Amino acid sequence: MAVKPIRLFGDPVLRTPAEPVKDFDKELRQLVKDLTDTMIDAPGAGLAAPQLGVGLRVFTYYVDDRLGHVVNPTLDLTDEQETGDEGCLSLPGLAFPTPRSVGVVAKGYNMHGEPITLEGTHLLARCVQHETDHLDGILFIDRMDPEQRKAAMKAVREAEWFGDPAPVVKQSPHRTFGKAI
Ligand SMILES: [Zn+2]
Repeated sequence: MAVKPIRLFGDPVLRTPAEPVKDFDKELRQLVKDLTDTMIDAPGAGLAAPQLGVGLRVFTYYVDDRLGHVVNPTLDLTDEQETGDEGCLSLPGLAFPTPRSVGVVAKGYNMHGEPITLEGTHLLARCVQHETDHLDGILFIDRMDPEQRKAAMKAVREAEWFGDPAPVVKQSPHRTFGKAI
């Protein structure tokens, strides 16, 4: 197992477009393994390399017992959209209605450099769009309508993990270091 820490909202790596993979080497295979192990451990339906702090165009998915990865994906999306609850391992514990295309055909490569095509609808399509967005520095809150985004940002600001480097310290009556008041 190679479970890695997942970068959280606020980390600039999540807003940085990732570079195409050029070398289908041992390091890429290790990255796919790290992504797969971390995604399954979380557990999550998908994970993109920037979420592990790696700026390469790779993601993994695990939806309806379909486990896999795509390197350098390009997407064809259906015009038809649907809105469904969506979450992100980089914004833990939050889920909001987010519009996505119902179907997707993703073309790309596997970790050995062989061309692959991944077709999916509904949850798999949502996952593929969400993860490919990560490779472009886009987060699911960017896809929401303005009202939902406002509610989402409020929830983010109130989330235990956001902007507080040591939330546990506050709960200890014996230690008072931290912000001066
Ligand atoms: Zn995500």
